[in-house]
Amino acid sequence: MAGEQSYLMLFVDETSLYNRIVLGHLLPANLWDPLPHFLQTWLRNYLAGTLLYFISGFLWCFYIYYLKRNVYVPKDAIPTRKAMLLQIYVAMKAMPWYTLLPTVSENMIENGWTRCFSKLDDYGWTLYFLYLSIYLVLVELGIYWMHRELHDIKPLYKYLHATHHIYNKQNTLSPFAGLAFHPLDGILQAVPHVVALFIVPIHFTTHLALLFMEAIWTANIHDCIHGNIWPIMGAGYHTIHHTTYKHNYGHYTIWMDWMFGSLKDPLEEDDVPKKAK
Ligand SMILES: [Zn+2]
Ligand SMILES: [Zn+2]
Repeated sequence: MAGEQSYLMLFVDETSLYNRIVLGHLLPANLWDPLPHFLQTWLRNYLAGTLLYFISGFLWCFYIYYLKRNVYVPKDAIPTRKAMLLQIYVAMKAMPWYTLLPTVSENMIENGWTRCFSKLDDYGWTLYFLYLSIYLVLVELGIYWMHRELHDIKPLYKYLHATHHIYNKQNTLSPFAGLAFHPLDGILQAVPHVVALFIVPIHFTTHLALLFMEAIWTANIHDCIHGNIWPIMGAGYHTIHHTTYKHNYGHYTIWMDWMFGSLKDPLEEDDVPKKAK
C-alpha cells in the first residue's frame, strides 16, 4: 500500500513540476502559489492551452497566408480577419472548459484510477510502443464515432456541433477554426483520450503530450491545404467534411472512414488546393 502511494506521488511530482514551470514563468507566485493543486493544474492547462492555440495559429497563418501567399491558398480563399477573429472568440470562450478535461484526467491519474504509468522502465520500450499503438487506435475509433454521432443525433448536432459547422466554405476556414467548438462538443471529442487511459496502460507524459498535440493537429486540419500523405487525415479531407457534412469524420488517419464507409478523397474534387510538394 505504501509502495502504491509513493508510486502515485511520482504523478503528483510531475504535475507539480509542470505547474511550477508554466505558472512560475507567467504569473507572480503570490497569485497561484496559495491555490489548491487541482486549481493550479487547471490554470496551468488553461494558460498553456491558450498560448499553444495562439502561437500555432499565428505561425500557421503567417506561413500560409503571408510567406507563401498564393502558393497554397489562392488570394480569394484567404479567410477574412473578421472570420478569424470570430473563431478566436468562440475558441477563447470554450478554452476554460476544454482545459477542465486534462485537469480532471490528471486528477484521476494521480489518484491511481487509470492504467497510466509514470516510469518508462515499468514496461520497457517494446510494450511502450505496443500500448501506445493500441491507445492511438482506441482514440481514433472513439473520436470517429463521437464525431459521427455528433452529426447523426440531431439535437447534439443542433445544440453543440453546429457551432463548428458554420464554417462551411473554404474561405471561412482557418487554423483558428481548429478549436472553435461549443465547449461541450470540444470536450466530448477529446473524451476518448481519457477513456482509453482506463483500458490500456499508457505512459503519463506521453498522454499529456498527445492531448496538447491536439491543439496543433486541429489547426493543421483546418488550413484547407491538402497534404496528401497516406494515411494521414489531411486538411483536404477535413475541408470536405465541412462542405458535405457526411464524410471524413476521422481525426489523425483516414482508416476509420475507410472501414466504416464514409471516406471521400479530396483528389476526386478539383477545388481543393494541393500542397506544392
Ligand atoms: Zn463535424
Ligand atoms: Zn472542423
